[in-house]
Amino acid sequence: MDSDCIFCQIVAGDIPANVVAETDDAVAFLDANPLTPGHTLVIPREHYHRLNDVPDDVAAEVLGLLHDVVPAVEAAVDAPATTVAFNNGEAAGQEVPHVHGHIVPRSGDDGQRPIHALFDDRPGVGDEEMDEIAAAIQAER
Ligand code: AMP
Ligand code: ZN
Repeated sequence: MDSDCIFCQIVAGDIPANVVAETDDAVAFLDANPLTPGHTLVIPREHYHRLNDVPDDVAAEVLGLLHDVVPAVEAAVDAPATTVAFNNGEAAGQEVPHVHGHIVPRSGDDGQRPIHALFDDRPGVGDEEMDEIAAAIQAER
């Protein structure tokens, strides 16, 4: 536990949260400042900064709980869809340094956009560079 971390404090029960589901290794609770009603966060109980830091078994547990909770969130707020996303690192907008997946209920008429709308332009990556990037990712795994 990182005693400075707000999500560790939620796991420890030191600060309140609307917990909606939990397992041995993961917890789901309502976001305190929801983007839409039902906005839920899913976290590992242990403190890891980014997805990259999470061990395989904990990652499976977090994704499993996320998978379990998504349909329940949609049903609870009568949403036909959800945006599911991790801000994975400060450069991607992560503010709380304890890895968390967002489940944001969406409706077709909420006036908001898909995650592709984060970017105004696309870089136009050529075929050769695409092949190089794919090969580099394969080599890094
Ligand atoms: P991110 O920008 O991906 O790090 O998102 C952090 C999220 O945590 C934001 O959506 C906040 O509203 C949410 N948050 C911050 N503090 C709390 C808290 N005490 N309980 C529940 N959610 C929180
Ligand atoms: Zn933490």
